Amino acid sequence: MENKLILKQGRDHSLRQRHPWIFSGAIERMVGAPGSGETVDVLSSEGEFLAKAAFSPQSSIRGRVWSWNDTPIDPAFFENRLARCLESRGRLKLDPSDSALRLVHAESDGLPGVVVDRYGDVLVLQCLTAGADRWRSALVASLAKLTGAACIYERSDVDVRELEGLPQSTGLLYGSDCPDSIQIQENGIKFQVNVKTGQKTGFYLDQRPNRRRVGELVGGMSVLNCFCYTGGFSLNALAAGASQVVSVDSSGDALEMARQNVLLNGLPANKCVWMDGDVFLLLRRFRDEGRKFDAIVLDPPKFAPTAASAEKAARAYKDINLLAFKLLNSDGLLFTFSCSGGISADLFQKVVAGAALDAKVEARIIEHLSQGPDHPVALNFPEGAYLKGLVCQVI
Ligand code: SAH
Repeated sequence: MENKLILKQGRDHSLRQRHPWIFSGAIERMVGAPGSGETVDVLSSEGEFLAKAAFSPQSSIRGRVWSWNDTPIDPAFFENRLARCLESRGRLKLDPSDSALRLVHAESDGLPGVVVDRYGDVLVLQCLTAGADRWRSALVASLAKLTGAACIYERSDVDVRELEGLPQSTGLLYGSDCPDSIQIQENGIKFQVNVKTGQKTGFYLDQRPNRRRVGELVGGMSVLNCFCYTGGFSLNALAAGASQVVSVDSSGDALEMARQNVLLNGLPANKCVWMDGDVFLLLRRFRDEGRKFDAIVLDPPKFAPTAASAEKAARAYKDINLLAFKLLNSDGLLFTFSCSGGISADLFQKVVAGAALDAKVEARIIEHLSQGPDHPVALNFPEGAYLKGLVCQVI
């Protein structure tokens, strides 16, 4: 007998709008005893079939929809979905010399909890949910077949798995070996990526178009890149002829790789200053020293993973943006980002506006930025739009 998840009366609205999440509070009762990640039929209180979903017994997001149709959820289903992802990436007309991109972006690609990033012929898989975890081997087999990848490495070492009651999991899933360091190219610039020990899956692919945009705007300028990781924005600025690039991160490993990336590209190392430290403290020090820059990039880590932490996060965003505005020369540019799901685009803009006001600078938004097209946002899943960026010009 199929396992069934039956919704409370009147709690089918969001599913009928094709939002793929079923919260525990919307469930009237279960029929059968589905295990972690098993597929359940989702029914309205009247018994109407609504969807096939993966069951997450421990999470408050108790179900995530695989399909709106009453089709079997089996290895062939996943192979079809993955093939659809690959096809859609092919139609994005990305720069063919870019060798890294996101192939699968979870809910927005119809595969909740599944993230796949490609670095050359290496794929990195993240299984974020019980459903994704359960189908790992089918996903790996189909990915290998469809992409011809040399190896597939798992980086399911993410906090969200705890909410699903899943342990962290990393390691080689396919292929005989995975190199420690992979060289990729993005916007014509080479980067070393370590998919085993790097942050996330190794590189912040979502910022690709924004790194390019920074390069287009900062030629000749002095640039401060806060939260620089392995130098993504810094190298784009250098390649564009920035006069000096000061980069800050609290990860010594990331800074070391950033330095190597500059050499790898033959870019002028003498124009770079790498600082190992806390951006919050360093911005204060620069303010006290009266330092000024023509352009500043703020790309902090996720301060608010959920709406619950939004208030505290908003204060942190306000703090760094306020300090950055104070360090900018007139006509200076601030590239400021938030990748927090808990902070809406609207709230982020208000926080940045408040920061400018308190810094007593007049500034205007000249551009809105977001995650690249290989990180699509399904229209029925607005939560997928997590990366918000503003380019502000000080007048
Ligand atoms: N802009 C980067 C990605 C930034 S990810 C790129 O384009 O690749 C966020 C970075 O912030 C990480 O490298 C992390 O090590 C760093 N970080 C986190 N908290 C920090 C802090 N308080 N001060 C400095 N760096 C910090």
